[in-house]
Amino acid sequence: MKRYEKLFINGQWVAAEGTGWTTLINPATEAPVAEVINASQADVDKAVKAARAAFSSWSQTSSAERAEYIRKLQKALEARKEELAIAISQTMGCPIKWARIIQVNCVAAFAKFADRAAEMDVEKQVNNSLVVREPVGVCAFITPWNYPLYQLIGKVAPALAAGCTMVLKPASITPLQDLIFAECVEEIGLPAGVFNLLTGKGGELGDALVTHPEVDMVSFTGSTGTGARIQRLAADSIKRVCLELGGKSPLIITEDAPLAEAVRSGVRDVMINSGQTCICQTRMLVPRSRYEEAVVLAKQYAEEMPVGAIDDENTDIGPLSSLAQRETVLKYIRAGLEEGAKLVTGGVERPEGFDKGAYVRPTIFRDVHNKMTIAQEEIFGPVIAMIPYDTIEEAIEIANDSKYGLSSGVWAANKEEGLKIARRIRAGQCYVNGGDFNYDAPLGGYKQSGNGREWGDFGIHEFYEIKSIQL
Ligand code: NAD
Repeated sequence: MKRYEKLFINGQWVAAEGTGWTTLINPATEAPVAEVINASQADVDKAVKAARAAFSSWSQTSSAERAEYIRKLQKALEARKEELAIAISQTMGCPIKWARIIQVNCVAAFAKFADRAAEMDVEKQVNNSLVVREPVGVCAFITPWNYPLYQLIGKVAPALAAGCTMVLKPASITPLQDLIFAECVEEIGLPAGVFNLLTGKGGELGDALVTHPEVDMVSFTGSTGTGARIQRLAADSIKRVCLELGGKSPLIITEDAPLAEAVRSGVRDVMINSGQTCICQTRMLVPRSRYEEAVVLAKQYAEEMPVGAIDDENTDIGPLSSLAQRETVLKYIRAGLEEGAKLVTGGVERPEGFDKGAYVRPTIFRDVHNKMTIAQEEIFGPVIAMIPYDTIEEAIEIANDSKYGLSSGVWAANKEEGLKIARRIRAGQCYVNGGDFNYDAPLGGYKQSGNGREWGDFGIHEFYEIKSIQL
């Protein structure tokens, strides 16, 4: 079994001060994949100091220079795409066919930030003042396991473009793509200290990173509970904090929508990546007049998605990312049954033929009321709650009756009608009539889904300060 015993600090692979290890587990087979060293708080201090030392020169590079490094990094990543897909698939259970598409294709979007580096050169004369943009400084990044490469790129690429330096701590169970990325950083000769990588446990390293006096900004993607704790900790030193948190997104299907297409797209949106997609639309709101028809369609579409081994090219649905996540999801399925929701398909039994692994049957509940636990809390598993409604006003009310506001969807007779409803949903994104995911569009939450925006032109805004110089 491969052992990763070094951390990437100040442009070099260095021995960790920490002594513990994390064993990465393939959640489909429960077999160990690799062992990775856990950094200690002393390593946090070393990495942050390296980033601080590198900031003075990196922040002064030209946008063209930084763009060149970003393009080189993207090329290096492109060359290792299959390796990245396998690493992600084996550690978090995304079927390989899907890992190539939804987990790794984001590499192409990395280079977009090369062009966006020029955003930093934008200056504005206001009367006797010159308003300029400057990089925010040393950034601490903490990322989750569900789309680990995508999370890395969404933070690291704009930070590099802006002229920031950084320390990245990925989720302890999925650090392999980050280690590959650090190898790419070394290969292309990014200046030492600009990018530093610490592997290890958030609970052990988080506080040291978030409270470090030399860290200027924390960008966190993960659960709302951990995000709130980070915000509280960072408050004492007034750091900039960007939070990309959980969601419980609604999909409103209108009376005159093409029902089969809408339900099929809604079911697939949740089931791909086993429901572990922060923006997936897990509350399906259907007009009562078409509810029975929609239930039959949802059952059919969920049951025709093959559950299987992650290296089988036919598999649509793999396991959850860990046995612990499986337990969490099963708890929610039980809660749904206890609160009176009815199973359309799925449930707590293992899928047939899978007596081990973190597999959960694709599950759809009907007769769900929006106040039920399964409609209010983020399950992060392959579970859909079908909620009936009587009027479109009521549907919009239900859609907005959530502490979250990350994403949403509408299926209507046409895009124009869908857009009218999209404008009334309190969420950072809305997908109308199955609109495609767009790496050039901003992503981020309203309400307890977080603050700030990643990706697109807005993605770089988090990483600069604005200075006015009075002349
Ligand atoms: P998590 O909060 O458990 O962990 C996320 C990261 O935080 C990991 O790196 C973990 O090691 C670290 N961490 C854990 N405890 C910490 C602490 N006390 N201090 C600092 N860091 C700590 O979340 P998760 O279970 O890995 O990820 C799933 C969650 O992420 C879901 O809620 C999902 O909706 C959310 N998510 C949001 C987005 C978005 O863009 N809004 C994207 C992906 C995932």
